[in-house]
Amino acid sequence: MRTLAAERVAIALAAAGLAGCSTFGASKFTPPKNAICAGQGFAIDASFASAGLHDCVIAPDGSVVVSVDHEPAVAEGINPSPWFAFRLKSDAPRSITVTLDYTDYTHRYAPYVSADGKTWMALGADKLALNERKTRATLKLDVPKGTLWVAGQPLSPSHDNLEWTRRELISKGFEEERYGTSLEGQPLIGFVGGGGVDAIVMLTRQHPPETSGQEAYRSFLERLTDRADDKANLFRARHRIILAPMPNPDGVDAGHWRLNAGGIDLNRDWGVFSQPETKALSAWIKLQAGNRRVVSMMDFHSTDRTVIYAPPLDAASPTIGFLPALKQKFDSTLSAPPAWSYSHNADGGTAKGWALEQLKAPGITVELWDQIPAQDARALGAAAADALIEYFAR
Ligand SMILES: [Zn+2]
Repeated sequence: MRTLAAERVAIALAAAGLAGCSTFGASKFTPPKNAICAGQGFAIDASFASAGLHDCVIAPDGSVVVSVDHEPAVAEGINPSPWFAFRLKSDAPRSITVTLDYTDYTHRYAPYVSADGKTWMALGADKLALNERKTRATLKLDVPKGTLWVAGQPLSPSHDNLEWTRRELISKGFEEERYGTSLEGQPLIGFVGGGGVDAIVMLTRQHPPETSGQEAYRSFLERLTDRADDKANLFRARHRIILAPMPNPDGVDAGHWRLNAGGIDLNRDWGVFSQPETKALSAWIKLQAGNRRVVSMMDFHSTDRTVIYAPPLDAASPTIGFLPALKQKFDSTLSAPPAWSYSHNADGGTAKGWALEQLKAPGITVELWDQIPAQDARALGAAAADALIEYFAR
């Protein structure tokens, strides 16, 4: 799609007698070769890791419409997570109105902007307007001379959480392991530390855009490995820590809403294991856990509210008593404690359900609100680690 769009730009430029010409629009401006639309002194491209799936047109009045498309999905319908990430390049500072067109889907992610793709600011609410059906979002953008990045969350392509986790753990005696290969050939990397009689498992980013969950995962891991009192030391001596920071690198880097490169929701594939990512990860977790008791498996996600999905309190797990302790910790320490939802579906294909079926461990899906302030996501992650340490190091 992007290639076709880029070709269309080239053809349009040629037709206008502008191809190879040094002037473009009102001033000297050469649109990038990979632009999906260009004109009037600016261009848009979506050719970087985690860019959304976009096409675009420039209207006669200079405003822009960007389509927000999803990846091919094997099952009908896709979770409504319209991810967008693109770049504007302009030859001069200018205000540009950009409408995101979600077709049948509705706006989910509040836009962030960045001058360098690294430091992000939320776009002011006064610069965002939705149509009545919320199928179109119109952004008023102040584009500098140079580049403005626009994305549904601060960008975090696959290498980002991998490198963050590596930096965090490498000096703490953890081992890094390549446990498999993604459908498109990327290495699947896990980390493991300690060798106690019990084990704890944690995951994040099965679903590509869910970076507020990743934020909670990071503070969870920091607290679990940095807390320095006797209980924390005892916890770490007793528990092998097994984690997978990037179980869907293809989907993350391709800017998918939800799926891996095979068009499958990986968090509906635990049990069937039709995809290399879930097959390899589940086998690796079992191998690393060995005959240890797995006390919990925590899988960090994002959605439209902060909520914990947990198995029922009478589920067949020797460590099910951890759940009330975790809830008590959240309720007593967080300014906005999460809601809880208890259920178990043995055939649902979630990592949570698999953990209970196969590891006899309470699998917990930790869902962070998409727009939760970073410090609140971090507080929840740290509180979860404290609850784990205090409950299992009694
Ligand atoms: Zn998710």
